[in-house]
Amino acid sequence: MADKKEKLFYQQKNAYDLISEEERKACYDYCEGYKEFLDNCKTERIGVKYTVALAENAGFKPYVPGMDFKVGDRLYYNSRGKAVILAVIGTRPLGDGINISAAHIDSPRLDLKSVPLYEDSELAFFKTHYYGGIKKYQWVAIPLELYGTVVLKDGSTVDVSIGAGPDDPQFVITDLLPHLSADQMKKTLTEAFTGEGLNILIASRPDKETEGSDRVKMTVMTILNEKYGIIEEDFLSAEFEAVPAYNARDLGLDRSMIGAYGHDDRSCAYAGLTALMETESPEKTAVCILADKEEIGSEGVTGMKSQGFEWFIGALCEKKGVRLEDCFANSFCLSADVCNAFDPNYPEVSEKRNNAKINYGTALMKFTGSRGKSGSSDASAETIGKLRTLFEKEGVIWQMAELGKVDQGGGGTVAMFMAQRNIETVDSGVPVLSMHAPYEIVSKIDCYMTYKAIKALYNS
Ligand code: MN
Ligand code: MN
Repeated sequence: MADKKEKLFYQQKNAYDLISEEERKACYDYCEGYKEFLDNCKTERIGVKYTVALAENAGFKPYVPGMDFKVGDRLYYNSRGKAVILAVIGTRPLGDGINISAAHIDSPRLDLKSVPLYEDSELAFFKTHYYGGIKKYQWVAIPLELYGTVVLKDGSTVDVSIGAGPDDPQFVITDLLPHLSADQMKKTLTEAFTGEGLNILIASRPDKETEGSDRVKMTVMTILNEKYGIIEEDFLSAEFEAVPAYNARDLGLDRSMIGAYGHDDRSCAYAGLTALMETESPEKTAVCILADKEEIGSEGVTGMKSQGFEWFIGALCEKKGVRLEDCFANSFCLSADVCNAFDPNYPEVSEKRNNAKINYGTALMKFTGSRGKSGSSDASAETIGKLRTLFEKEGVIWQMAELGKVDQGGGGTVAMFMAQRNIETVDSGVPVLSMHAPYEIVSKIDCYMTYKAIKALYNS
């Protein structure tokens, strides 16, 4: 009977029961590099900088319009310092299609408003406007660090980074003490924690030389002016992002998990990037996208709805006399993005048989979206089948996943924007616990299997 079950039933296995000790070690080693990536890529801007440095080290060169290229060449297109597309040129013509991994490097966070600085009760604060889907109560009473890019009146740019250095000061949004929270505790979470309430405490020391009001605000401007040459008006042409001020750490007695800010979607970004850097001369040109703006719907010039992708791949095609449309029609894309992992603390929102599980490998999602699969590209049986065969051949441990129960909620990725381009696309990525929280959790083995999955595609 056991044989018959083995033969006819689908039985999922924990990845730890399937891999060798040697591969487990390789997986944990891989995650050391991933943790370093996390610590250096807390915003899309510094993520691009770090990625470009890694890529150049691995022989990638910036794409220059009109340049010629040959098999094995390694190119990248840096889109305005906020998104990057990297390519390794394959032996087959571009008209045969390219293999793409599309991840994003923006994460939910708190952006400063354009006129952020104010003083109240002799404390200075920054007003914020949250970016992406956050649960606001998670962002109070945790340490924050600040990254900014300021364009001064003369057109020059100043980069600001405060909080990441070992001796740097950090910032926080205050919360109410439980002793006085009788009214707050009666409110719903959305009422108790509002967007306008997420004001970051910046300083408390009054400026001695200033009289009257706004003496603490003056302390802030004095320090910013001395250190960065900034005046208050410069905030108008600036972007500041506040992100959690802690680094990635192993989680669990067995060190099997990683806790960090921004696994969504740096776990897949790093997987794609590493797989590409290790790809020498693939048959089909291998492309790794690290996109911006996914968390706000892939809008904007650096998001995946942007023609920036066509601009780069189209230019490569044109140089070789290939129609971009033909290239896309024969291409394949792994929309490399995270999904939720089944959480036994909240079993009510998931359907156990179809939810991704920690340590069960990279998760393929045939569709995302919400309600009746609305807002999803819904990959075909053939598309999933192609990956099933490939993953079997390459020893990639994978699982099928659905984001929670039907009608419980939903989400989207860049998949539908890739499919709109006539590119066969399916979602594949790392299951995450506490997704979109300032401290997310992934399993090392799932991160590694996502990297292995993308590598298998590049080498297919
Ligand atoms: Mn994502
Ligand atoms: Mn997300």
